[in-house]
Amino acid sequence: MRVQLHTRVTAAYRDGRRLDTIVTESKSGRQSWRAPVFIDTTGDGGLAAQAGCEFEIGREKSCPCQPLTMYALLVVKDAALIADCLHGTGRHGTGRHGTHTGRQAFRDVLARAGVTPSYGAACLFPIRGNLVLLMANHEYGINATDAAAVTTATLRARGELHRIVRALARLGGPWEGVQIAATPEQIGVRDGRRIRGRFVVTRDDLVTGARQDDAVVRATFPVDIHALTAEANKLKAYDNAGVNVQPYDIPYRALVARDVDGLLLAGRCISGDVTGNAVAMGEAAGAAAAVAAKRKVAPHEIPWPDVAAVRRGVAEAIARLEAAGVATRPGGPNSWRRGVAAVSMACTRVPCDAGWKREIVCRRATWTAGWFSCPESPGFHPGLLDTARRFYKQPPAETATPCRSGAPTRPGGR
Ligand SMILES: Cc1cc2nc3c(=O)[nH]c(=O)nc-3n(C[C@H](O)[C@H](O)[C@H](O)COP(=O)(O)OP(=O)(O)OC[C@H]3O[C@@H](n4cnc5c(N)ncnc54)[C@H](O)[C@@H]3O)c2cc1C
Repeated sequence: MRVQLHTRVTAAYRDGRRLDTIVTESKSGRQSWRAPVFIDTTGDGGLAAQAGCEFEIGREKSCPCQPLTMYALLVVKDAALIADCLHGTGRHGTGRHGTHTGRQAFRDVLARAGVTPSYGAACLFPIRGNLVLLMANHEYGINATDAAAVTTATLRARGELHRIVRALARLGGPWEGVQIAATPEQIGVRDGRRIRGRFVVTRDDLVTGARQDDAVVRATFPVDIHALTAEANKLKAYDNAGVNVQPYDIPYRALVARDVDGLLLAGRCISGDVTGNAVAMGEAAGAAAAVAAKRKVAPHEIPWPDVAAVRRGVAEAIARLEAAGVATRPGGPNSWRRGVAAVSMACTRVPCDAGWKREIVCRRATWTAGWFSCPESPGFHPGLLDTARRFYKQPPAETATPCRSGAPTRPGGR
């Protein structure tokens, strides 16, 4: 497989219903690409929109959309000194503010520092060592497909994060010398285009925990809608819109574009919501594309069991790598990320019936993988628990905590 980074899709051409050619732009100039199958993983559904697929964005057909958010990685002088302010730390919600111990304590600190972040439920996530993640920013009223608006939001968000961190540093004590280690290149988008697939997952599916024969992933994440305006944020920064999610299936048909043949969708552009689900969808779309290309048919013509068989092969290959210590080997600049990806993939590859999971494998990485851990599922690879222990320094006792079943309650993570 050949990979080309730093390249944007800018146009798409069809031959009848079939997507035939896409055009990209990069430092190499303008290039065209032909393929039997394309997969749109642009988050905002940029390729599918260029190809003429119907989509929704925000509430229905168009915004209002949920706010954008920029995170910041901070380095503190000693994370142990601010442990009370860290979200979901080792206290497991038994502290003086219950499950929101870290968040409330951090908000008290922000108030002392004299800052009111644009995100009403600002929090600090522990990452590892003295590295923590600051979530404090909301950018309201931005359509993620408007480049100028996203640029303005990005600059404003970085400015806010720097102001907050400077104010924290002025407090001194445990906050002395706190500084931003990194902000992401791209601001985080919650609501991009949702491209119409051959199946649309509905609110009823979430409430009833619908099962599908062609399930790509069993999603467990709750509905998580952030305040649409600064005014609404003052009352409530996010809520579940009254929808109590039961673990539900996202079927392969939802990944197959309805209006254009030869086009698969994966991740946020079908409202994939969280990383764990997006990873599983990407894996399934890749497997389906490979089968379709080999057989010279369109993705919608492939029986799901054939895709599932390829995925099983991939899972077994990963398990062999894990067993050989290749994918889990600690050290190196990306080892931490590899750990997250590996755990996240394994957790979502296996449909999990045991109820609501979040706290087991990667408690200290809840922002990426923690809510998708299903170690009790048949087929869960035990090597991943070791990975999690190594990367997140988990005490073994935590990994033995049983999954809770029943109605999900939100941990207040995002
Ligand atoms: C603030 C915030 C907090 C979150 N917290 C969590 C969390 O705690 N846990 C969790 O699991 N998930 C979380 N998520 C969700 C998670 O980030 C997404 O579900 C996931 O990133 C979606 O992955 P994706 O690959 O579909 O899209 P993205 O991650 O958006 O990736 C899309 C990629 O496509 C590229 N792209 C876009 N347009 C083009 C183009 N025209 N040509 C080429 N490339 C293009 C983009 O540059 C980007 O790299 C959060 C999201 C946000 C915004």
